[in-house]
Amino acid sequence: MTAVSPQSRSNLSLAQRAHNIRHHALRMGEVQGQGYVGQALGVADVLAVSYFHALNTRPHDPEWEGRDRFLLSIGHYAIALYAALIEAGVLPEAEIETYGMDDSRLPMSGMASYTPGMEITGGSLGHGLGIGVGMALGLRRKGGGQFVYNLMSDGELGEGSTWEAAMGAAHHKLSNLICIVDFNDQQADGPSTETLSAEPVADKWRAFGWHSQRVDGNDLDALVAAFDAARAHDGPEPRVIVADTRMCRGVPFLEAREMTHFVRVEPEEWGRALAVLEEGAPR
Ligand SMILES: [Mg+2]
Repeated sequence: MTAVSPQSRSNLSLAQRAHNIRHHALRMGEVQGQGYVGQALGVADVLAVSYFHALNTRPHDPEWEGRDRFLLSIGHYAIALYAALIEAGVLPEAEIETYGMDDSRLPMSGMASYTPGMEITGGSLGHGLGIGVGMALGLRRKGGGQFVYNLMSDGELGEGSTWEAAMGAAHHKLSNLICIVDFNDQQADGPSTETLSAEPVADKWRAFGWHSQRVDGNDLDALVAAFDAARAHDGPEPRVIVADTRMCRGVPFLEAREMTHFVRVEPEEWGRALAVLEEGAPR
């Protein structure tokens, strides 16, 4: 990828940011010959809107007390969050080459003690939202006005701890908590709706006392509107955005592959995947 100055980067559109996040993730996948790239490609638009529209952060001061918190409940999505943190300037792009290696700050599963910008060690699954409830309570008591975002998967809708946390958030009226569900209809055992369906998902959150929206998670305009509505909602409810995403989005020959939790990419396919992604780059 051609190097660009920080200044020229600051004017990039959300579509360009999402594209770059996909590009960084594929390059990390290529380093190891594997990775959860299907999820990373699918959730890239959500991350672009999170980091380049919604979140209040200081990239060069990732521990700034006033920052919004972004929790990656799904530790195996680390490749996706690293890509966003690289694009945001929290992590240097050169570290892509270290992905998954000994002593790298980019281990294959996300760990808070290793990586700037990684707020929690997610996965075991089903715990991010509970941690988010505690954080949102604490931050509200401190009075700083920060939001806590928790990114979780549709597979985590099958975890009882998710719904305990959902009840707790509504009970405590955590209007500073925004949960994003990456609904790609895949989990380790197969399609989520066939493994343990949580439908109707948006209604279920509403019944638990949440301000609930469901949008196309690969539509940047729809995501921007949903994040804006979540933040602006004038009510005491915690907020959830259920984002329907497509695994491997942006690389059609992988999108067309029979979807699996861990998409297999052959050694010779990484270069092709990057080339195909580039063909579809926003101009
Ligand atoms: Mg899933």
